[in-house]
Amino acid sequence: MTGMDVICDLIRDVEDFPEPGIVFKDITPLLSDPEAFAAAIDAMAAPWLTAEPGREVTKVAGIESRGFIFGVPVAQRLSVGFVPVRKQGKLPFDSIAQDYNREYGPDTIEIHADAVDVGDRVLIVDDVLATAGTALAAATLIGAAGATVAGFSALIELGFLAPRSLLGDFAVESVVVFGGD
Ligand code: AMP
Repeated sequence: MTGMDVICDLIRDVEDFPEPGIVFKDITPLLSDPEAFAAAIDAMAAPWLTAEPGREVTKVAGIESRGFIFGVPVAQRLSVGFVPVRKQGKLPFDSIAQDYNREYGPDTIEIHADAVDVGDRVLIVDDVLATAGTALAAATLIGAAGATVAGFSALIELGFLAPRSLLGDFAVESVVVFGGD
């Protein structure tokens, strides 16, 4: 079995969670396997470790909460700092907020106003790219704070929901794609 097959095998489908009709991608079996987890982090970081123009990253932003699990080790691999993108009301200092729509209604995410600087190139990390509404809201926040979005890195892309169509010209990298062309 290849490393990628091992990673796929450790992503568990849980049907009808959190609602009927949703197939939840449960990453906890992957997290409990140290070699496969490390391989997944390596794969998420690799596209951003090249000298290719446009791939420079000066900060990683992880989306609460599973984006923290992947974002922190990716930031460490890239030797850059980490910015938590949090749900409303969780950050202690001056924050900026972005509203967006999820499948089940409106939501709000926030970052500290001083989390990024003009000139920063920020990689946005999450576990799953589904509709990409959350990722786009995070990108809007990073832009509002004056930094540039370098791209997105996800462990899992739900291709059948076409998240890339929402993310336009941004660079998008995912380790495993379920469904889609
Ligand atoms: P979206 O904004 O639709 O791309 O949803 C992305 C966010 O919702 C991510 O933070 C994921 O953790 C979570 N998510 C959406 N769909 C799923 C799914 N099928 N399985 C696990 N997590 C999901």
